[in-house]
Amino acid sequence: MKLANLDGRAVALVDGGVVDLAKASDGYLPSEPDEAIARLADVKSWFADHGPEPTSDGSEGEFLSDLSRLGPPVTSPRQIFAVGLNYVDHGTETGLAIPDEPLVFTKFASSIAGPGDPIALPTETCDWEVELVAVVGTCGRDIPARNAFDHLAGFCIGQDISERRSQMAGSPPQFSLAKSHRGFTPIGPWLTTTDELDANDLAISTRIDNETVQSARTSDMVFDIATLVSHLSGICELFPGDLIFTGTPSGVGFSRTPARFLAPGNVLHSYIEGLGELRNPCIGKETVR
Ligand code: ZN
Repeated sequence: MKLANLDGRAVALVDGGVVDLAKASDGYLPSEPDEAIARLADVKSWFADHGPEPTSDGSEGEFLSDLSRLGPPVTSPRQIFAVGLNYVDHGTETGLAIPDEPLVFTKFASSIAGPGDPIALPTETCDWEVELVAVVGTCGRDIPARNAFDHLAGFCIGQDISERRSQMAGSPPQFSLAKSHRGFTPIGPWLTTTDELDANDLAISTRIDNETVQSARTSDMVFDIATLVSHLSGICELFPGDLIFTGTPSGVGFSRTPARFLAPGNVLHSYIEGLGELRNPCIGKETVR
């Protein structure tokens, strides 16, 4: 099942169109995208019982291709975890040692953006990091790795946009603020539930305009999804809608020679096999509304 935020309402994407959850169920299912994820079990059982016909929105192909009507599939998570150095090649390119246990920081929820939203670049040193994002479905503490997927609603694509100057300004570097400027956390284009694919082995890539700059497989992760869920839940209670950014593969801009960063006019394409694509145009700071 694919759940999306279409014009601010929770919808399921089905063959031939969309199903507006609240309208189709006469208000039994929620209209809020975040609530729909928290009630995923109800959504699934209602669909199994009712087999609803898609509404003839008529614009399915249109909004899936232009993305402008799609908002982030999760709008207000309580927690956003992000994992650093979780692909060996990325550790190598940064010159930093792969940690013995997950290196975790946070991105703040005010930086969340939709799958087609513009990214206003606050400086000339903003970088890309495509990441598989795991979305928590049910609460849990001390979740064993073998049960981790039972606590996930699904997956989407994310970009962990990073302002490298402030990230690297001190010693040790700090991550959370440098990665939480407005629009620095585009996610989507929709949530794909865990039963639809094997998230442990998917192609993942970033393209800037027509040039591929990152290309790897999620099977290259140092700490896999289940290990991350188990580790995090051993410290923090996980809540429905929480996001776990699982790290980025090699190919980021700041570790290139010469370093390369996002520029106004670039279009950032983020792709994960089976999950769709984000397409975020980069704009200059002065054009921020
Ligand atoms: Zn990252």
